[in-house]
Amino acid sequence: MGAEVRWASCNIFSTQDHAAAAIAKAKTATVFAWKGETLEEYWDCTEECLTWPGADGPDLIVDDGGDATLLIHKGKEAEEKFAKEGVLPDPASTNNPEFKCVLQILKQSIQKDPTKWTRMAANCKGVSEETTTGVHRLLDMAKKGELLFPAINVNDSVTKSKFDNVYGCRHSLPDGIMRATDVMIGGKRAWIGGFGDVGKGSCEALRACGARVTTGEIDPICALQAVMQGYDVAPIEKMLETADIFITTTGNFNIITAEHMAKMKNNAIVGNIGHFDNEIDMAGLEKYPGIKIENIKPQVDRYVFPDGHGVIVLASGRLLNLGCATGHPSFVMSCSFTNQTIAQLDLLDNWKKSNILKREGREEYKNEVYLLSKELDEKVARLHLPALGAELTVLSDEQADYIGVRKLGPYKPLTYRY
Ligand code: NAD
Repeated sequence: MGAEVRWASCNIFSTQDHAAAAIAKAKTATVFAWKGETLEEYWDCTEECLTWPGADGPDLIVDDGGDATLLIHKGKEAEEKFAKEGVLPDPASTNNPEFKCVLQILKQSIQKDPTKWTRMAANCKGVSEETTTGVHRLLDMAKKGELLFPAINVNDSVTKSKFDNVYGCRHSLPDGIMRATDVMIGGKRAWIGGFGDVGKGSCEALRACGARVTTGEIDPICALQAVMQGYDVAPIEKMLETADIFITTTGNFNIITAEHMAKMKNNAIVGNIGHFDNEIDMAGLEKYPGIKIENIKPQVDRYVFPDGHGVIVLASGRLLNLGCATGHPSFVMSCSFTNQTIAQLDLLDNWKKSNILKREGREEYKNEVYLLSKELDEKVARLHLPALGAELTVLSDEQADYIGVRKLGPYKPLTYRY
């Protein structure tokens, strides 16, 4: 489409080096990513990606997890504080290792250029955000009136969250566990924390491999759904001595604590496919008195407790499907990225008033979080059907009238949950 693209990874382990190298070689994007970055390198790459030669920054951002968006917002905030009070960000003011890196980067950049992030924020026309956790952050900023540009929530397109999160994880969770451990999943007991979209795909995958699956939920609706689908529902504490595989999918933190892991069976497998590295309390595990770490191979570590028993932790508690395997297959990502592309066109329309998407009665976006329309969501699905040899039934005029929809859609109200 003619955009000039700079690209960084959204996770220290998620780059496939051969794919990144091919992009760099083809010169279709400037690449700042490799597998196995340190946290410092990761945040440096994020800054480099956003630092545009000859411009104040990107016009548009495609984000996954919200880190690029976060850096710009925190950057502007820190520059305002520096301008008012002369105070630089202090990395020692936080114990969070990621946020330490953010503060370090901002401290350095403000000394070089005290309005870099303010100009970047003013230049940016919008962001489209890929994932559940990134969307939570955006909604939070919008609620507080702090969002600096319009945002499109790609995650909650039906053709994203009900496909990538469910079917993508259904594929890449067992892929990651198998590549990392070669363990027989059949017959094992697995506990999956969370029965949302990712949890549903994860439970289905492990059950299909023959595991006996229990899920943990806080939401009675999701818990009841799990039982109706034939899973046991129990908190992790009830499974510590029996389960062989523990997977977190909640988008929340401290789901598996060091104390939990201390009580697990020898060689229990512990992994996360939800977010960051704090669904499993890695910081607590690393500080556990007397803990020893045996590296088995890249992204597979055995943490040995003083009593001699150990747990096998995948991808250092980060997304194991990205760290230990190659993420979701490209077909399901094509659905997600079609949403991303349409979202980018939508933001471009909003900026240039060109109406490339031919949307009726569109209003100018404010600094809020928007969903793509149902028409566009259905379009994403429609575009993917031929590749799978699926043929739609066509409504007759009378049938369309009878159920009160237009013949070419949308076919469902916004409240429909799929
Ligand atoms: P979701 O909201 O549909 O599901 C999360 C579920 O966890 C909810 O049902 C919630 O009730 C439950 N939960 C929250 N706290 C809990 C707790 N303490 N104990 C038990 N259950 C708890 O979200 P989702 O779309 O399934 O996404 C979950 C996470 O996975 C997000 O962080 C998202 O960004 C991430 N994600 C990862 C991938 C990947 O490839 N690894 C893909 C998509 C989404």
